[in-house]
Formats: sequence, C-alpha cells, structure tokens
Amino acid sequence: MKIQRIDVFPLIFPMKRNFSISGGSVGSKESGATHVYVKITADDGTVGWGEARPSRRWSYETLESVTSTIRKYLGPALIGKSPLCFKTLHQRMNLEIASGTTIGQPIAKSAIDLALHDLAARSENKPLPGVWQEAIPGPVKLSYLISTSDPEEAAQLASKAKAEGYKGLDVKVGLTPKRDIDVIRAVKEAAPDLFFRVDANQAYTLSQAIQLAKNMEAVGVDVFEQPLPAGDLFGHARLRARAGVPIALDESVWSPRDVVNAVRTEAADTIVIKTSKMRGLYYARLCGLIAREAGLDLLGGGLTESTIGLTASAYLFGALNITTPVDLNGPLFLADDAVHSGTTIRDGCIHFPNDVGIGCTIDEEKIVKYRAQL
Ligand SMILES: [Mg+2]
Repeated sequence: MKIQRIDVFPLIFPMKRNFSISGGSVGSKESGATHVYVKITADDGTVGWGEARPSRRWSYETLESVTSTIRKYLGPALIGKSPLCFKTLHQRMNLEIASGTTIGQPIAKSAIDLALHDLAARSENKPLPGVWQEAIPGPVKLSYLISTSDPEEAAQLASKAKAEGYKGLDVKVGLTPKRDIDVIRAVKEAAPDLFFRVDANQAYTLSQAIQLAKNMEAVGVDVFEQPLPAGDLFGHARLRARAGVPIALDESVWSPRDVVNAVRTEAADTIVIKTSKMRGLYYARLCGLIAREAGLDLLGGGLTESTIGLTASAYLFGALNITTPVDLNGPLFLADDAVHSGTTIRDGCIHFPNDVGIGCTIDEEKIVKYRAQL
C-alpha cells in the first residue's frame, strides 16, 4: 500500500465560550477556533483523517502555517510511501521541516500522524489501539477547565462540574496573579473531592511560584503545572526542591529528548502528554513510555481539539494507563465540529465506540460550511 494523496482543510469552528490562558485568548465566540483537518488516501482506497489545532497564543504555529506547511512540504514528502511505517514517515517529515532548537512545526506534523494512525487501523479493520496491539480501554476520566480571575464564578463552575460528574478540575492561573490564590481556595471549597490541577501556562517568576506553591500545598492542590517559562528547567528544579506540591511540565516538554532533559535536571514530577504538541501519537506515546520508565507521573491534556483529536488522544491516554482526569476540553468550548462519531461523554468520562480507526466519520457538508478562507 502507498500514500496516493494528502488533502488539507483549514477550518474555523464556532465556539460557545471564550477561552483565555495567561498568554491571551486562544479562541472566542467572535473569532471561533482554528482547526486543520487532513485526509490521507492510499492507493487501495483506504482513507485516514487527522486533525491539528494550532493556537498562536499557546505556540508559534498558526492556521495558515499548518495548512501551507502540509500542502507544500510535509504532504508531498510522503506521497508514494507506505502509510504503515510511522517511524520512516516521521523521519521524512523531520527532514522536510528541520528541528533547529525546536522540533519543527509539531502541530502540523500531528495532523498527518493522526491521519496515518487512522488509516493504518482502518486497513487492519481494528479500532485505533489495535495499532499498538492494545484493546479498547475503559472510560477515560475528564477534568473540567476553569479559566476566570473571579473567585465567585470559579466556585460556581467547580460546583457545576462536580454536579455534572467530572472527576477533576483544571484551573488556569496567571491571568491575574494577585487573585490566583483566592480563585484556588474558592474552587477547593466548592469541590473538595475532585482531582485538582492548577496550570499557570508559564506565567510566574520563580519567587512568585515558590510563594504560590506554599499556599497551594496548604489548600490541597494535587499538581502545579508549568509555573515558569518553558525553557527554564533549572528554575523548575529549584521550585521542585522547595514546593510541597508536585510540579508538572507541559510547554517545556515537546519531544522524547525533552522528557530525558526533564529527568536529567530533576525538573518535574509529572509530564503532560499531548498529541498535538508532540507531533502526534507516535512521539506522544514514546514520551509517555520514557517518562513512565523514569518513574515520573503522567497527565493527559489537549489543545481544545475537536472529536478526531479528542478521541485519538483519549485512546492514547487509556493505553498509557493515565488514571488521573485528563484535560481534553474541546467539547466545553466548541459549539460544533465536522465529525460524526460514536465517542460519547457522559458522567464526566469519555466512552469509546467499537469502531475502526479513530472512529470518526467526516461530515463533508460541514467541511464546506466551516472552511476558512486563507
Ligand atoms: Mg498546560
């Protein structure tokens, strides 16, 4: 079997809620959410679909850069190759968009990687975990995302999440650092039994992070995610030595090498696995396996992907035995996407259908409806 054709669809999906992190808006009801769908067709007619969710306030990739990079470089480099050898195909992509000091447009590469996994699983008539010789996992627990600097609103959202059956809370801080501890206390009071993850998205200085970590320990926060800038592994190691709350790295870890460096520098208790930032399932799985072997914990997360990216990520988290609630929050923010799927969310968990591949059927009319004009 050979890859015959790669099609790219830049899309803007409607949002039902605005979403801000410490770096700014990552999508709003006004502007919508930027997604790129990729369709890979093999010469025997097998098709795989993948997704990227570029968010320029979270990393440097954009709707335009992901679309043009796949169309002009990554896609043409893979035509004529076997779609089943993920390692060789990733090597081709890494040659085509070189790494420099980064790993070279991982979000664009992730869209192709997801489509390849979908295609490979479909060609064997198996659900996605079949490509890892794994069975469909049980339900994957979800955390509910809270992003506000108003303690009262944060408490209301925490109560709502608890009532809806969510198993954990992911609170974004750093939007208004002076109010962060008030938001954290309000959330803990409203939902004391839920797994409690606090994500600063690189917002703090070391001294701010040490102070907040001490306060969070007293409140009972379970994990403090990415307090310092991504490149500051030394600072995270110093923070870890003084903080009574486990430290997770997200934006600091994009690749297996980054996991190794986090281990070497003792900068993390926990690594945040995301398919989008890690070039898709192939490297995200490797990152998870290395971190596990090094004795670190894993958290699962996403970049508000639609149903394709959400389901693929959740399958991987199940295969990696991530038991803490994962932050796959696309459904909290997206009003619609371009997929029909048996994947369901109920009682705060993702439940998988027994379908082949990632299990998503593309709605061609919605691909046209939500098409972005670049
Ligand atoms: Mg994060």
